[in-house]
Amino acid sequence: MNLTIQNHLLFAGGKQVPYRATPNRSGIMNPDTIIDHDTASNPLDPSGDIGWLTMPVASASAHVVIDWRGGITQLAPFNVQCWHAGPSKYGNRYNFNAFAIGIEHDNPGYLRKIGEGIYSGVCVIDTNRNSEFRVARVATPEHGDHYWLAYSEKQIAASAALHAALKAAYPAINTVLGHFHICPGRKTDTNPLFPLSHMQAIVRGEAGELPPPIKTKPEPQAPVTAKPSFLPDATVIADSLNLRGGPGIQFAVKGAIPYGTRIDVQEKDQLTGWLRVVTPFGATGYVHGGFVRLD
Ligand SMILES: [Zn+2]
Repeated sequence: MNLTIQNHLLFAGGKQVPYRATPNRSGIMNPDTIIDHDTASNPLDPSGDIGWLTMPVASASAHVVIDWRGGITQLAPFNVQCWHAGPSKYGNRYNFNAFAIGIEHDNPGYLRKIGEGIYSGVCVIDTNRNSEFRVARVATPEHGDHYWLAYSEKQIAASAALHAALKAAYPAINTVLGHFHICPGRKTDTNPLFPLSHMQAIVRGEAGELPPPIKTKPEPQAPVTAKPSFLPDATVIADSLNLRGGPGIQFAVKGAIPYGTRIDVQEKDQLTGWLRVVTPFGATGYVHGGFVRLD
């Protein structure tokens, strides 16, 4: 998909993408961040969420909506503040609407299993009737333990192309976050199957030519490679801290580290807070940074 941005408007193959103006916008901004969202709507009914995001009563909007088939509709120029983030905080920054572009992806959000291959949430997702639908159960500390609809290949390809086009038009963009990062406890979008780390790599110029992964399963156990030496730089502050095989509670517990143990933190995932660590007993694995005090 050949996406370009001219005068803060989006073009695909030289032709402006459909534009539906939203009144839910405020002043001019210089974007340096992208926030990825889900619409929490029926993926096969793209008209619903665009209708809602362009109504004054919604008091909500985003710059673009990417539908299930990969079609993109723009609702406001990229240098105008839209109302997609709400009260928000990440690191030492607040009020993400003031500097972040909002991308909505048609996806229903969390689902409950109500039958074999049938799931319910804001709509019914029947994988028996629609072979395009792939649903996986995934638990993360930020999302909880639910069933989620995998994004479609076309949707992810369009989203990746858009992230790249935005970076080209606004070189200051260096951060990609999910709505759940900036509104913890209040938001769970994008869902855990969204390839956020790939989108982050795109804006950092690190993604290369690889197409974005279409995730239908939790990420496999991350490989652990130990540093040759043990250089403790943190202290466990939980009574008994689970050491896991990967960065998330969906990964198996490999052991427990007692309170006060000195550990070596080798890597920190700034997005999720998970740490890759080595224990004094030579074990390697992952712990959540909330239970560790760094020196
Ligand atoms: Zn959102």
